[in-house]
Amino acid sequence: MTGTTIDDAASSSQTPIKTTYNLNKPRAAYYPHPGSKIYANKSLYSKLAASPKTLIESHLCQPRSGIAVKIPAKSIFRLTTPQGPQVCDLNIWNLHNPRERFWAARTRQLHSAHVSTFDRLWSNLPYLRPLVTITADTLSARHDEWGGRVHDTLGTRCDPYVDKLISGEDNDLHCHSNLTRAVLPYGLTEFDVHDVLNVFQVTGLNEYDQYFMEACPASKDDYFELFAEQDLLVAISACPGGDLSQWGWGEDSDDLQGSKMVDCCRPLGIEVYKLNDEDEVLKDWIAPEVVNYRGNHGLKGP
Ligand SMILES: [Zn+2]
Repeated sequence: MTGTTIDDAASSSQTPIKTTYNLNKPRAAYYPHPGSKIYANKSLYSKLAASPKTLIESHLCQPRSGIAVKIPAKSIFRLTTPQGPQVCDLNIWNLHNPRERFWAARTRQLHSAHVSTFDRLWSNLPYLRPLVTITADTLSARHDEWGGRVHDTLGTRCDPYVDKLISGEDNDLHCHSNLTRAVLPYGLTEFDVHDVLNVFQVTGLNEYDQYFMEACPASKDDYFELFAEQDLLVAISACPGGDLSQWGWGEDSDDLQGSKMVDCCRPLGIEVYKLNDEDEVLKDWIAPEVVNYRGNHGLKGP
């Protein structure tokens, strides 16, 4: 028997047998209301992105490693692929309170599974406010014929535990470990590393609802630009999967000798900019506040 059958997708809990049940096509659960705090003021952020700014710091993340950088509120920072395609696993914390950190799932609901310009990366409960707003994206919501899109909140970082589970090997350069090493000097640990935004990475869900990844489309001139809504600690990992053009992590001999896995691995950059006329450009910007929920989850006092 040839061709793909449902049995081929036995590892999926979902089959592609679908019906509309004569219902109308559902619309997005969350969508912009005029004046909503959830969505960026496009005129403000367009102005902000176009305003003159000065490069104040530049950091290089070596291939198959991680770095962490403090980013002051009101800065603009760019994630870059200075030597060509390389996927980037991004974690973000409130610099002053690392319990407040990026929440991929809520961001996926409020915006979309893949994010781009004017989308915001939201923090977890009980905070729920933007950590950053995306101000430019040279890959600009690129998507391919199979439905893959770029900058993904669907997946998470690669980690040594799932690798051990699958391969039986102990490999140390996964994004989870790269991010862990990067944040240790800031007093954080493995437990602070969280679900990432996979920047520069093309992913999607196939007809069986299964996650797929495709080769990174970034060139050396591409960047993903964000406005810091708060004082931040930002960590990135240059994934040992490199540009994802090969399958593997480059730590076993087959990878190194056969597919030249490490040749697919390149550095990443973080460039931090300060707006030249910050007061003028940001005169209509309001620092995001935590949500003012006054209830107590239904708990009653004595
Ligand atoms: Zn990775």
